[in-house]
Amino acid sequence: MSSLLAGKNILIMGLRNKWSIAWGIAKAARDQGANLIFTYLGEREKDAVAELAASLDSSAIYSCDVTSDNAIDHLFTALKQNYGVLHGVVHSIAFARAEDIQNGVVNTTRDGYALAMDISAYSLAAVAKRAQSLMTQGGSIITLTYMGSEKVFPGYNIMGVAKAALETEVRYLASDLGPQGIRVNAISAGPIKTLSAKGVKDFSSILDTADQKAPLRRRIDHEDIGGPAVFLLSELSRAVTGEIMHVDCGLNIMGI
Ligand code: NAP
Repeated sequence: MSSLLAGKNILIMGLRNKWSIAWGIAKAARDQGANLIFTYLGEREKDAVAELAASLDSSAIYSCDVTSDNAIDHLFTALKQNYGVLHGVVHSIAFARAEDIQNGVVNTTRDGYALAMDISAYSLAAVAKRAQSLMTQGGSIITLTYMGSEKVFPGYNIMGVAKAALETEVRYLASDLGPQGIRVNAISAGPIKTLSAKGVKDFSSILDTADQKAPLRRRIDHEDIGGPAVFLLSELSRAVTGEIMHVDCGLNIMGI
């Protein structure tokens, strides 16, 4: 084990299973000595998250539905009591209804739009607001985005709109929290087969395109995200904030 994150308390939000991007990040952070704390959404997922956490020497799992201010308050009250200080937060959460991801932005309902924005974008601000009071030694907050925020990806729809909001939010939060020594950055990940990605139409053709068109001629995997996430969580990136870092084997630079 190396020690870039030794003794650092890192909260990981959005671990669902071994295919989750959060899992790649959690493993890399643990390899660097982090003390990991996890959240899970529903009781149905609790045991699976507990098992994954245990495999990384953590028994710290807390329930949190980010659509509820009360739930986020409860989480951070418990973290304050049990840990006092937080050094990092990984926000790896997004959701939109399947019909809103698939049916075009023009057909998005008011309700579906609000839900996608609430979970996929607003939740970062809601979490950052509570996390700041525990980041008394400075801190690093990272979130996950996708280049569907920059260009149109048929089949991504409302999620692209939400990711654009999320990325702008990263810059504003970085400005708000910078004076306290808290950095906020995003990783724009290339396509990875996860449970959430299943909601995107023709996702396998997006993966094939990555294999063919990315300068490195391959899609990314979870391990590819772990290293950059450790960089952003650690002192190595102490002068980096408000950045959207692409980790996609270079796919985003290609015009065709
Ligand atoms: P994932 O494994 O399905 O993770 C998404 C997580 O969000 C799940 O743990 C899910 O919990 C959680 N979540 C959804 N609604 C929530 C709520 N109301 N409160 C708390 N948690 C909630 O999929 P993933 O692909 O790793 O996604 C992680 C992040 O990476 C997302 O922001 C996604 O947009 C982003 N990303 C993914 C890709 C890709 O190709 N996969 C590429 C770029 C960026 P439940 O499963 O229990 O509902």
